[in-house]
This record gives sequence, structure tokens and C-alpha cells, in this order.
Amino acid sequence: MLTYPCRCGATLFFENVRCLACGRDCGWCDACRRVVAVEPTDNGAWRCAGQGCGATLAFCKNRTQYDACNALVDSPGSFCRSCQATTLAPNLDDPELLGRWRAMETAKRRLLYGLDTLGIGWEASNPPLTFRFPADTADEHHTTGHQDGVVTINLKEADSVERERARQRFGEPHRTLIGHLRHEASHWLWQVFVQGQREGEFGFVFGDHNRPPYAEAMPRYYEQGPPDDWQERHISRYAASHPWEDFAETAAFYLDMRAVLETVAHQFGYHPPAGDDAGALLATYQQLGVGLNEVNRALGLTDALPEVVSKRVADKVAWVHELLSQNTPAWPNGAGTGRAPAPAAGPSRRGAAGPGR
Ligand SMILES: [Zn+2]
Ligand SMILES: [Zn+2]
Ligand SMILES: [Zn+2]
Ligand SMILES: [Zn+2]
Repeated sequence: MLTYPCRCGATLFFENVRCLACGRDCGWCDACRRVVAVEPTDNGAWRCAGQGCGATLAFCKNRTQYDACNALVDSPGSFCRSCQATTLAPNLDDPELLGRWRAMETAKRRLLYGLDTLGIGWEASNPPLTFRFPADTADEHHTTGHQDGVVTINLKEADSVERERARQRFGEPHRTLIGHLRHEASHWLWQVFVQGQREGEFGFVFGDHNRPPYAEAMPRYYEQGPPDDWQERHISRYAASHPWEDFAETAAFYLDMRAVLETVAHQFGYHPPAGDDAGALLATYQQLGVGLNEVNRALGLTDALPEVVSKRVADKVAWVHELLSQNTPAWPNGAGTGRAPAPAAGPSRRGAAGPGR
């Protein structure tokens, strides 16, 4: 993730709604593809000012109503691209649920930023990518998962105590909102980029997803856990449960890696070697991981990059890289500095439109 200079010279961060130094209002401008300081106009609108595009804009409705977004939109009262993709939110009169939902939306904007950076047209794909953030009630329980372009994340995941409990129960090194979103969105990536198109190749790299079928593999995994040698073939324990989960875990790892490498390149000028080669990206990432983990240990935190990447896992990451970076504009040096890549039309494997928004 990048940071951006305010007109006053201070740094604007991805989530800022205001410059902490000069107090100017700011927000994400889609046309500029960055966080910009805005100036009020005479008629109550905002102008993308300074080095921005000069457009007259308004704040996303979820900012004016719930302080849950920092994007700028074309007309007052409308939702930004990210907020439009949420089809179900909890009862926002409940302050606790409101707080959890805000955390989800913030993580989701990062996920979508990453997909945009890759040039993946998540709105135009068939099905498009949409999100539901339900909260459990006394008689209604919701499962986190993905189905046909719809990502559902149970809001209890935004409760840090709950999340830590689950992390320990499942023996995971990390359990984060952005991690959940990247994992579930990766099931959608499988649907639009692999299903019915590259399944044979997929089977060669990840294993045949019909043998055993998903419905058989998952109960077995929950009963028996992963095989002892899972690290030789999988990025995580859970990835050993079934090839679909293996893909989702691997693609989520890949999205994490891109986000981290972009951040480090921008903040520290630490670029992967030239070329857009998965091996070079991975080598840089692993080298970084050694240092980052030591930094975290110095602070008593868990390892930032806990994954061990075996040769087999590196091959899977390389396949995901080839699959997902086809539409990616110049990277990493060009990322975030120009305009957003035009949303790519998704492969139209299905004739029918996906879920509406
Ligand atoms: Zn400022
Ligand atoms: Zn602008
Ligand atoms: Zn919004
Ligand atoms: Zn999954």
C-alpha cells in the first residue's frame, strides 16, 4: 500500500479522511488513484485539488452516514465502488456491530485496491465480486465462505478476542480480516479464471479437485488434520484439506506478497529484481521475511511472514502469478502512481449475469 503527500507536505495514508497536519479533508479519488486533499466548493461539493484531477466530487454515502469509508464519488448520496459491492451489512444502529462493519469495509478496500492493481475487473466479471457481512443472532448463524461471487464474512471475525480464540483453536499463525477476504476472494478468482478453462492445468499443479470431492475431503480434514509432511506441498495446514482450499490459500498468500512488496518498494525503495518473475518476487519476499520476523520478535509480536515456501509451493505460487498477473500494468515501480487500470472485462464463462448489487 502506498502513502501520498498532502498539499501541505505531510503524509496521507490509505485510510485517512483528514490530513493530521493541516486538517484538510481528504479521500480516495478513483480518477487519480490515490488519496488526495479536497477543497470545498461554493455549492457544498468538493474539488480534487492541488495536483489532483480537479474533478468536482462528493463523499461516499457510507462516509457521510457512518464514517465507514473515505472514497470520493461523482454525486452526493451515492456509494463508491467498494461500498456498492457490499450487499449485506448488519444492523448499523448497534454501535458494536457498526464498529466491526467499519473494520470489514476498511479491510475490503485494501483487498479491492490489490485486485485493481492487478488489473482484475472484479465489478465487470461474471459473476462480479460482492460481499455480505452478517452478524449472528440467537437463532441465526452465518458461515464465512464464498459462493458464486458472493463472499460472506461473519462479523464475529471483526471481534479481536473471538478471532484470536479461533486462531489458536485452528493452529493458524495469522488470522486477520484482510486474510479472510483474500482467501474467500481467491475462491472467486478460481471460478472466473480457472473453472471450465484451465482445470486440467490446475489439476496438474494443485491436484484433481474431484478426487476426493470437496464434500468428502473437508470432514476428513477436520477429523484427521493435515498429513505430517504438509509443509512440503502446501503453504498452510488448511491448504492440505482440498485442492480448492490449496488454491485459495496460495492465491491469498500471493495477494499478501504483492501488497507487502508494493509497500516495501514504496516506503523503503526496496525493489524486487527487475522482471516480473515469480521466483524473483518470492526470493525478495522471503529475504524480507527474515528481517521482518526479527523486527516482530524484537517487539514480542508473532512472525509477520510465517510461511515456509517449499519448491512445490513455489511452483504453485508461480502458477497463480502467471494466472493473475496477465492484465497487470507495469509493476512494481509503476503501481499506484498513475491512473487506475481500466476495469478489465471478466471472462464470460457464464451467460447469465451474476448477483445484482
Ligand atoms: Zn495536509
Ligand atoms: Zn482526483
Ligand atoms: Zn464507500
Ligand atoms: Zn476456503
